[in-house]
Amino acid sequence: MATKTGICILCQQEKKLNLEHVPPQGVGNKGGKNTLTGDLRDFISWNSSSEPLPREIKRQPKGNAYYTLCIDCNSKLGGAYVKHYVDFAKENKEFLYRIKNVKLGNNSKLTHSMKDVNSLRVAKEIVAMFFSVNGEVDSKDVKFLDSVRTYLKEVENNNFPIEKYKIVLNYHFPIFAPWMKELHLATDMIDNESTHNYIRPFVKHELGNGQKIRYSEIQYEGIGLTLIDLENSNYDITIGYDLKNFLTAQDKSKKILLSNVPVFTPNSILLMEKALEFPEESGADLLLREQRILNYIKSLNQKEREEAELKIRALGKNRSIK
Ligand SMILES: [Zn+2]
Repeated sequence: MATKTGICILCQQEKKLNLEHVPPQGVGNKGGKNTLTGDLRDFISWNSSSEPLPREIKRQPKGNAYYTLCIDCNSKLGGAYVKHYVDFAKENKEFLYRIKNVKLGNNSKLTHSMKDVNSLRVAKEIVAMFFSVNGEVDSKDVKFLDSVRTYLKEVENNNFPIEKYKIVLNYHFPIFAPWMKELHLATDMIDNESTHNYIRPFVKHELGNGQKIRYSEIQYEGIGLTLIDLENSNYDITIGYDLKNFLTAQDKSKKILLSNVPVFTPNSILLMEKALEFPEESGADLLLREQRILNYIKSLNQKEREEAELKIRALGKNRSIK
């Protein structure tokens, strides 16, 4: 296993660090010679059966991973939390793909009930993922790491700092996934704006009129997650499934109901923005972009709203998944 020496972000000691996969390998983030990173537009223009790999597309043989945790901490978190998240993510992804006629964009929402879910442990792995995404030496978010370190260390601790951070869940249905599979391209790690899986540390967006939001995101085929830094945001996110009850749950398994979870696809959001003649998208998170579309539609008067809905509907007719 690959290692390097550094300060572990959990125990804060100088130790050998090993590679932490986000999301866990069990969700599909295993890497391999077919795992690639690039902008979706480069993938679309590349004829993979006859052309060599273009310079814009990079191989990512280890999958998406970070040197952030020591071997002991990694195996401690692995043993306590990972399986709970992997089972949760896999079941939700299967559920998403079973729904044959997922309506893309346009406020599409799904409700799913699940048995024997330890919500706290699912949430802990989600926090652990954001911990590593924001824990690399050159992009370390000390405030976030300090805020959740004890929460992660103590398995039964459900004292998540909900006044400082909010985590929101959505279904991430990348429209190109079936197509990618046919081409035997791994769907992991296709990163950048208007693309496939987005995983990145905290970024800040200024939205005009003094509105701002700071967030980190893990949008991976099946489940999408957005971590919002509430102290540095005043833009209200009302869509998505708020994980507050997961983050503060008791440490036990029970039946849960995920209700009204929005389904996002990068492509349909891009098309909506085009239909509504939004300015060129800023590379923002899917959740934020969907929220802006929703707010925009709400701000219209009756006649403008009808016109916008016609445009969106016309666009929907041209959309299909094979
Ligand atoms: Zn450690």
